[in-house]
Amino acid sequence: MKKEIELLDKKISYLFNPSRRAKKIRLTVKSDGNLMVSAPFRLDENRVRDFMKIKSKWITDKLNYFREHPGIILSADKEAVVEHKRAALKLVHSRLEYFNKIYQFRYAKVAIRNQITRWGSCSKNGHLSFNNKVVLLSERHADYIVVHELCHLGQLNHSQNFWNLVAKTVPDYKKIKKELKQFHLR
Ligand SMILES: [Zn+2]
Repeated sequence: MKKEIELLDKKISYLFNPSRRAKKIRLTVKSDGNLMVSAPFRLDENRVRDFMKIKSKWITDKLNYFREHPGIILSADKEAVVEHKRAALKLVHSRLEYFNKIYQFRYAKVAIRNQITRWGSCSKNGHLSFNNKVVLLSERHADYIVVHELCHLGQLNHSQNFWNLVAKTVPDYKKIKKELKQFHLR
């Protein structure tokens, strides 16, 4: 249920979620700027509000951070994840094939993972993995991610030589890198 509280002279609204499974009060500030508060089912609500007052600096800092860094949140429910995985595998394979006509590297394995921390990775033994949410990106953003990991097969670092390789097929990679920062994975 939606509630309101005054913290540091500011009215702050939050979603209050009393839960039978909760053992303690938990505060979460989502990257879309929503504050969620869960608490043990029978706990006196005044205790919850007192706790929030103690944590008021933490709460307002977090809320301010997400206000100053607005972004697009890429999240998906369970069913979508399976769908995305299938679509991502198809997309990644076809783009890898396309770009590798130019690069001619050798890759051992391609995997799609539901990751929340990164768009892709490349291992020493030539295993490429990609985030299934690449399917949610525009073509040029997805292409950059494919090319980035592909180029790690030639340079397993982020040296200038590596970026020169990337620039061969994605000349505006700097701009794309910056644009990608506005996406939050979840
Ligand atoms: Zn890299």
